[in-house]
Amino acid sequence: MVRFDGVTKRYGDLTVLDGLSLDIMPGEMVSIIGPSGSGKTTVLRVLMTLEPINEGVIYIDGRPLTHMPGKGGLVPASERHLRRMRSEIGMCFQHFNLFPHMTALENCVEGPIYSLGLPKAEARARAVDLLELVGLADKMNHYPMQLSGGQQQRVAIARALAMRPRVLLFDEVTSALDPEVIGEVTQVIRTLVSEHNLTMLMVTHQMGFARDISDRVCFFSAGRIEEQGPPREFFTNPQRDRTRQFLRAVK
Ligand code: ADP
Repeated sequence: MVRFDGVTKRYGDLTVLDGLSLDIMPGEMVSIIGPSGSGKTTVLRVLMTLEPINEGVIYIDGRPLTHMPGKGGLVPASERHLRRMRSEIGMCFQHFNLFPHMTALENCVEGPIYSLGLPKAEARARAVDLLELVGLADKMNHYPMQLSGGQQQRVAIARALAMRPRVLLFDEVTSALDPEVIGEVTQVIRTLVSEHNLTMLMVTHQMGFARDISDRVCFFSAGRIEEQGPPREFFTNPQRDRTRQFLRAVK
């Protein structure tokens, strides 16, 4: 569903992604962990086409994300192609990024009406279902500032789902939350993993969470995958020195 093929991203002289190759299967939940500055968030940003890449190609379901076939090979994609590709990817951010002047429900119907062109009644019905899914049936008409951080993050997840993405990205979605509400957000993500066939990529500092819900954990170091594997093997029997050092330091 997602393929990074030799992707390099530089900021000036700094190489942030260094020939990264990564394949994510349909329905797979992959967690990215690693030290600060290792390029984890950049992976999500280039997938969202918020940042251009310098080398390599990213594919979504076999189609190049920012390029299209042209004369003599791939050429930079048109705005139309980019819009279509972007619509397949949803993202939830550390700081929620909800519209403050809209209720939870309005936050979830805005995109489907204006970007997907859904009729209002249908967008509303789907938004209600999604807010129920994230356990906020009784808060639909609240504004973000009337909600706790955990509730706001759950609205943000419902809003991302309302756009019907095929791939959902989570960037440190529990980092800005008080410890007592982290569980309600991780529970929602667990439900998505077990009951919905979405492909998900998550950057997290929460090792326990990565271990519990991922199909695969990728440990990043200096813009590359240093080690990856199923969580059980990865956490109990890491093979690489750097992985062991990192896991010792975050315990
Ligand atoms: P991580 O998520 O693993 O902490 P990031 O992907 O955010 O790492 O960043 C990787 C490196 O790229 C860091 O050294 C960071 O300072 C640098 N970086 C990120 N964004 C920019 C930018 N817009 N301009 C210059 N350097 C950046």
